[in-house]
This record gives sequence, C-alpha cells and structure tokens, in this order.
Amino acid sequence: MGKRIVLADPRGFCAGVDRAIQTVETILRTSTGGGHRSGLPPVYVRRQIVHNRHVVGDLAAQGAVFVEELDEIPDEAVKAGVPVVFSAHGVSPSVQHEAKRRGMHVVDATCPLVSKVHREVLRYVKDGYDIVYIGHRGHDEAVGVVGESPDHVHLIEHVSDVEGLDFPENGKLIYLSQTTLSIDETRDVIEALKQRFPWIIEPPSSDICYATQNRQTAVKSVAEQSDCVVVVGSANSSNSVRLMEVAEQALAGRGHAYRVDDASELNDAWFTGVESVGITSGASVPEELVIGVVDALKSLCYEDVSYVTTTRENMHFVLPAELRKR
Ligand code: SF4
Repeated sequence: MGKRIVLADPRGFCAGVDRAIQTVETILRTSTGGGHRSGLPPVYVRRQIVHNRHVVGDLAAQGAVFVEELDEIPDEAVKAGVPVVFSAHGVSPSVQHEAKRRGMHVVDATCPLVSKVHREVLRYVKDGYDIVYIGHRGHDEAVGVVGESPDHVHLIEHVSDVEGLDFPENGKLIYLSQTTLSIDETRDVIEALKQRFPWIIEPPSSDICYATQNRQTAVKSVAEQSDCVVVVGSANSSNSVRLMEVAEQALAGRGHAYRVDDASELNDAWFTGVESVGITSGASVPEELVIGVVDALKSLCYEDVSYVTTTRENMHFVLPAELRKR
C-alpha cells in the first residue's frame, strides 16, 4: 500500500459548538443596528465562544467583540441593550448575578450538556451530597460548575488527587465530571475513588458527552490503522488535547500524535518514513481546517484517502429561545 490518509468519522463540530456559533451568527445577522449607530458593537461574547482561535477570529471579523470579563463591557453598551453571549462552556452563578445586577441582555449559549451537569450539582447539593468533580483546574467549564457550590464541589484532575480527599464514612457522596475528559483516564480516577470511598455513588448517566465519546472512539480506530495521527484543534480545547492523548496511546509506540491549529503548523519531519497518517479534529474545529491539512498532506504524496466511521451522529440543539423567532 502507498502513502495514505485515514480520516476519523465522526470528527469536528458537535451539536453544542454548532449551537453556540449559530447563536452569535444569528445575533450578528439580525442585529437591528442600534449598536452600530452609536458606535457600539452588535454583540459582546464573554470568553471564547468555543475554544478555537479560527472560529473566534472569524466572528470577531464579523463584528463580535470578545471580552474576558463582564467589567470590560461599558455601561453605555448595557444601556443600549447590546446582547452579551455566554460561551458554550457555561458560567458560574457569580457571573450570572453580575450580569443581572448590571441589567445586561444575556443570551446564554451554554451547551445543554454542560447545563445538565450544573443542574446535577444543584440537585445533589440540595440533597446534602458532597460532590467530587473530575475536571481540569482553570478550564472555563470547570470554573462554572465548581462555582455552583464551591464548598461542596471538590475538583480533582488525576488519580493522585484522590489521596488528598477526605469525607466522612458513609456520608452522601457522588462524583460528576467535565464533559470533555478522556474516557480511559476518567475510568482510572473513578476506580481510585471507589477504592477509597466505596460508598460514593455514580451520576445517573455519564457526564462525558456523546461527542467526546464518539470522537475518542473514532480516533482510536484510526490510530490503530496509522503510523502517525494529526489532531486539528486549538491548544486550549480540552477535547482536542484529549484526542491527541488517546491517539498517542492507541498508536502504542508505533508513532506519534500531533495537534495543530491548522495546516501551517504541520512539520514535514513528522512524516518521514510514515505510510499512513490518521486525521481527526476536535469538537470546536471547522471542517475547512481539516481539508487544509488533508490538502497539505496530499502535496506530500498522501493521495489515497479513506474513512473510519464508528458511528453516525444526529444530535441537534435548538437555538436559545429568544433567537428562534429571528
Ligand atoms: Fe456540548 Fe459536548 Fe460539544 Fe462540549 S463537546 S459543547 S459538552 S456537545
């Protein structure tokens, strides 16, 4: 067999990312121009709407203004009713309260599957539980979830963190997790939790979302047929970084997995002696970036392109209610 490309399917946009981007695009498209007339932007977005710099750059070029915190939004814009979109990763109640206090027009693009974890936290805290939350410290999603009840939600990242936890024997205890973790790594953390706290209960359903699970399953199959895997996705995209780790593990020492934002970051040296290159992309990555990587590899004589399809996705989330009629 000659040099070839194996594309993972599913890859790229998930339903939550699609909804978040469409939320901002719908506001941009239907903006009445009140903001424009006064020199204000048509929309503010708190944090990156999804963790992909190309998506953010594209929306910024269309007029969206990205801020890290709400205090960067001037009172004049709040008074003019310029909408403020919360990103797909969700926010903590303190952010919601601040927006309410300032009378902001909020459009919440939090992925419904992240909102589900927020609701679980509230429900279990109300029922007297302590919650061990498996997630990445500092990630927007984790900050939002822990913020629901900082005294009762205990964030851990790794198996080694389990040792540092202490809960009363047979007390009410449950674990929840970030939506974009590695299934295999999380399994090890859960096992360690069950060993240390045998009375800990499981969430009613896995918090690792369908898109994360499907992309990890697909990249594993791809890696098993490849000598090297390229994951398209940004460095701050949790699910993209997890895909790289899963691929590296599935390659089992036969080669390496690399993450690139786009084709310009490919390094020819990675492909020396490589016959088969697997490709996938994170849930926040537009397909044109994958096409760019495929084209770049074709110029290195990887001309045969095949697919590994592990499942068909048909998940779709409707836009936030106030945008549906636009
Ligand atoms: Fe929602 Fe999962 Fe997509 Fe995150 S990766 S936005 S949780 S569907």
